[in-house]
Amino acid sequence: MTFAIRTTSTRRPILELPDELISQIAAGEVVERPASVVRELVDNALDAGARQVTVRLLAGGVRLILVEDDGQGIAQDELAVALKRHATSKIASLLDLESVGTMGFRGEALAAINSIADVSLLSRTADADHAWQLDGRTGELKPAARAQGTTVEVRELFYATPARRKFLKTDATELAHCIEAVRRHALVRPDVGFAIWHEGKLVEQWRACAGDGTDQASAQLQRLGDVLGAEFVEQSVTIHYESSSRRADGQPVVRVTGVAGIPDAARSRADQQFAYVNGRYVRDKVMTHAARSAYEDVLHGHRQPVYSLYVEIDPARVDVNVHPTKIEVRFRDSREVHQAVRHAVENALAIPRSSLATEGAVPGTDEAASPERPAFAHWAQPGIAFPANRTLYVSDFEAMWPAAQASLDQNAAPAAWPTAQVPTNDVYTSALAGYTGYLQPRPDKPAFARALDDAGDPASSDAPLPEGDWPLGRAIAQLQGIYVLAENRQGLVIVDMHAAHERIVYERLKEQMQARDVHGAGIASQPLLIPATFAASPQEVATAEACIDTLATLGLEITPFSPKTLAVRAVPTSLAQGDAVELARSVLAELGQHDASTVIQRAQNELLSTMACHGAVRANRKLTLDEMNALLRQMEATERSDQCNHGRPTWRQVSIRDLDTLFMRGR
Ligand code: ADP
Ligand code: MG
Repeated sequence: MTFAIRTTSTRRPILELPDELISQIAAGEVVERPASVVRELVDNALDAGARQVTVRLLAGGVRLILVEDDGQGIAQDELAVALKRHATSKIASLLDLESVGTMGFRGEALAAINSIADVSLLSRTADADHAWQLDGRTGELKPAARAQGTTVEVRELFYATPARRKFLKTDATELAHCIEAVRRHALVRPDVGFAIWHEGKLVEQWRACAGDGTDQASAQLQRLGDVLGAEFVEQSVTIHYESSSRRADGQPVVRVTGVAGIPDAARSRADQQFAYVNGRYVRDKVMTHAARSAYEDVLHGHRQPVYSLYVEIDPARVDVNVHPTKIEVRFRDSREVHQAVRHAVENALAIPRSSLATEGAVPGTDEAASPERPAFAHWAQPGIAFPANRTLYVSDFEAMWPAAQASLDQNAAPAAWPTAQVPTNDVYTSALAGYTGYLQPRPDKPAFARALDDAGDPASSDAPLPEGDWPLGRAIAQLQGIYVLAENRQGLVIVDMHAAHERIVYERLKEQMQARDVHGAGIASQPLLIPATFAASPQEVATAEACIDTLATLGLEITPFSPKTLAVRAVPTSLAQGDAVELARSVLAELGQHDASTVIQRAQNELLSTMACHGAVRANRKLTLDEMNALLRQMEATERSDQCNHGRPTWRQVSIRDLDTLFMRGR
């Protein structure tokens, strides 16, 4: 075979392309594979107000794609127009284009598909006596039978362009792409039922979830569970964010809802990341980047988060007409969207799961899957009203324990729990500062302590602890100097104490640094009674001298003691128990590498994380029960405390049911 490559030397006359060829060229852009056709046809069905959409396929869609809907239908005299290029019912002016709220508007899809396959339209409107069928190839129009709605039949895709057909994969692969196309629609339209048939077999079915009084949010969760699996939903947190800026009609300029998987649910591939803009599935770099950066602090390495994000934005602030298949969009102000998505996901992830788990739905238990209660019931009743549109601070949680606050004033000690002796000279007390309330004796005996008295048998699971107990439970022991064991309503809680404490200290440092931007103060510092001296390199001495102010902001005072010795005179209060010299060395090393001001601005979190690692309680350190309980209470009140600074989990739940299985009880 030879290839004729035409050069400009042979001049040919300029001709207008025939319509058919124009459509075929358009088809090249719009229709890559059967799934692209499915996508366009389902778009059309949804635009027509369908409540039920059924897709039937043969040979992965290559031989037949048939999409049925119960939408408003196409009138007899418009059937032929629908197949024409640039024929649309969706926009009539440039003004319409600015605020387009439908899936389609280019009037291109049907014409393009018709140019590369055998298409037939069967449709009936509400006021017609019967349906009409149009053969796209011959143009023949004849009466037919059908209820209101439209059936579009596409046979032998790419028959006219065999070269394209060669690029198709196996039927199974093409089918998978078709299912994915419907799935993307299904995830954003819980009010519509979807069914997919292949070779006469039902392969997927998602029933409409709204209409029976279900509110929008729970219909959405129901659909997410149906499509992506109950596990996806159980391992996710809900997102609700509204930008503070408002449109003229009082609506927020940007609203973000949806779910974000907890870091534990992350995958090796980015195959469960769904993003929507005004109901349209999109692949958008701004949104992907924003979502990924929201996980920065809790997901390390190359793990891919899972999420389904729904952005609603003033249509005037987004251009959907930048890509033939409309899968890409352009935001007028991409920073605004980036910030909204990032904050939305970050806020949702910051809330420790333990604080939401009061009703038994905690990681690792299957309690929540009981039939009476949907898996996501705990979302509906977190018991705490979290502010939706700003970062949460640890201090926000203080309000959650009014009883503990009150007990501070009364100062009355309980008979037994916790032991009246409050640890005073300890890493946790110093880290706690504002949280002494948890360490203070409560005036009345905690609820679970009472339950223990009454029940006699603390392990008996049919004597549930009354309301008021703590999500992460009551510490019972320390294992091998590494793990804290605690008992809660669901069973056993196992905490990696170093990992958990590292996160708590880190969040505390971050909070103090953020407060610094507002109040000017830095990280709370504590002078050392005896300065810790160490032999320093000339570079370390130089850095210590050059960065006095930065170090002070970080709660550190490091001064030259002799030409070759540095003395650590003060350290951050929350790191007082750590190794002062190790801390000083690592901070000086990081400051020495960069210009001090850049570190503070850009690598601040890494620096604080390093500091936290040095200050956190080490393995093999014996903790008292009070210290362990203090740690648990801090975890419940600390943002992102479900993961350590390196993205590993800090605690796990082992339910009584898990233990029963282990011991083959109740079989
Ligand atoms: P667009 O969706 O961009 O308008 P299409 O080529 O996809 O362009 O469809 C052309 C027109 O045909 C639509 O504007 C709509 O009026 C009509 N149409 C297509 N599919 C359906 C359907 N399932 N139900 C009702 N009308 C439809
Ligand atoms: Mg369309």
